[in-house]
Amino acid sequence: MSRSVKTTAIGIDLGTTYSCVAAWFDQHNRVEIIPNEQGNNITPSCVACDDIEVLVGEGAKNQITRNPNNTVFDVKRLMGSKFSDKRLQEDIQSWPFKVIERSLEKPMIVLEHMGTEREFSPEEISSMILKNLKKAAEEFLGTPVTHAVITVPAYFNDKQRQATKDAGTLSGLNILQLINEPTAAAIAYGLDKLADRNHPPQKNVFIFDLGGGTFDVSLLTITKDGNISVKAVGGDTHLGGEDFDKAMVNHCVEEFKKRQNKDISKNARAVGRLKVACEKAKRDLSSTAQTSIEIDSLYDGIDFSIKFTRARFEELNAGFFTKCIEHVEKCLRDGDMQKQDIDDIVLVGGSTRIPKIQLMLRELFDWKQLCKSINADEAVAHGAAVLAAKLSDNGNKTVKDLILLDVTPLSLGIETNVDDMDILIPRNTPIPTTKEDVYVTMVDNQIGFTIQVYQGESRKTRDNIFLDQFHLQGVPPAPAGEQKVKVCFTIDVNGILNVSAELVSTGNKKGIIIAESGKLSKDDIEKMLKNVVL
Ligand code: AMP
Repeated sequence: MSRSVKTTAIGIDLGTTYSCVAAWFDQHNRVEIIPNEQGNNITPSCVACDDIEVLVGEGAKNQITRNPNNTVFDVKRLMGSKFSDKRLQEDIQSWPFKVIERSLEKPMIVLEHMGTEREFSPEEISSMILKNLKKAAEEFLGTPVTHAVITVPAYFNDKQRQATKDAGTLSGLNILQLINEPTAAAIAYGLDKLADRNHPPQKNVFIFDLGGGTFDVSLLTITKDGNISVKAVGGDTHLGGEDFDKAMVNHCVEEFKKRQNKDISKNARAVGRLKVACEKAKRDLSSTAQTSIEIDSLYDGIDFSIKFTRARFEELNAGFFTKCIEHVEKCLRDGDMQKQDIDDIVLVGGSTRIPKIQLMLRELFDWKQLCKSINADEAVAHGAAVLAAKLSDNGNKTVKDLILLDVTPLSLGIETNVDDMDILIPRNTPIPTTKEDVYVTMVDNQIGFTIQVYQGESRKTRDNIFLDQFHLQGVPPAPAGEQKVKVCFTIDVNGILNVSAELVSTGNKKGIIIAESGKLSKDDIEKMLKNVVL
């Protein structure tokens, strides 16, 4: 017999623009946010190559205007995505770094490192960010860190989740669990509130999480005894502060064209400088009604300056803001609740500091006050660290008593007739879960079944995300409708799907973990581990 050694597990918010790491501290009886080398609690999700080294975090972000083509940001938008994805293509157009297509439609990032071009998968780039956070945690804690809980947008699909898990493995971490970002924020918020003696037996909490690249909404109930259950989630994995920056950048590019008759949109350095200035101006506009951007020698030696009012910023982004509110309304409908049923509306994510967004939310919820008490930048990592503590048998009684019930964000099903989506697990079903259904042969003497798995809300599979397929052969000859196949869908706590099919007459069975198709093989992981330069 050996003595069990407590593992040190961290919680990581792997954000589109910034990441954050936290851990449970026995000495302080609470979670602490772990600062990076520069002493900051959040680290830019940025990786860059130059002639000498690979830079991660602040070092990478600080040199972005000098080295725009070799600095990667927004990598979360590439995770688990197909190269041909329409929205990814739009992103690629605006990114100064190069993204190419490799086998199985996988996007790869091309960077020049020590004079040679190298290709990196999105998982590899993310793993460098994770490694950097792991290192910061180890230095801060003075002990090796082996396990982690990583957060993902609630609206991430199966492939995006698996890609995140793979990035964790590549970084040398055992991933205890993936947890949805708004759920993690709810843990941070809920745990804080549970200490309150006047906590009602049950509270309905709406989490509005608008970050740099993703938007998540989540409706939960929190009970006094520490039960957190998600009722409905929604959102958009391609909506956030980066889009607002881009709208401002495009406006500046247009203005430059109007004034100088020159198109600077293809000049990576100029666009990079505009992006930095616009992001700063956007932040300013959250506290002032007007600001200005001034850039010396932006293009061809020409200086550029422009005034930005808050009203103009709001006008440029009105479409995005309206979309956010529509998602809130849909989530309320999905959770079968009225706006009056909501006790607390909790803001998470840097972009919720935008006054217009707060105003629109308050208007929707009949001018109810919004909870801004949790630290928007840190709440998600905080919640992940609580779960990491619980799963690694650390933490105090409140942490140990915590019960978490999450849901699956998107419906899962198979294609039956050509293009028809037959749903086995509807969206917002609590997870883990297992669902079965029986299907019959469609033609006489059909020799096999092809199980094609899709995720999404359309009744037509062509509008949903194709996850994977497999074939079950050896069906005994019989008239149409006689031979049956039992299809079983299982979703684990990470939201990852496992599908199996059994021929009822013979007992012949086959199954796959769906995300395996997008998942990196052991060989891939080994190859990549060699490639990860850190
Ligand atoms: P997060 O992913 O939650 O760290 O959010 C980062 C996003 O929040 C970035 O797009 C930032 O530009 C944005 N952000 C941070 N602070 C502000 C602010 N004061 N006003 C508007 N946007 C902000």
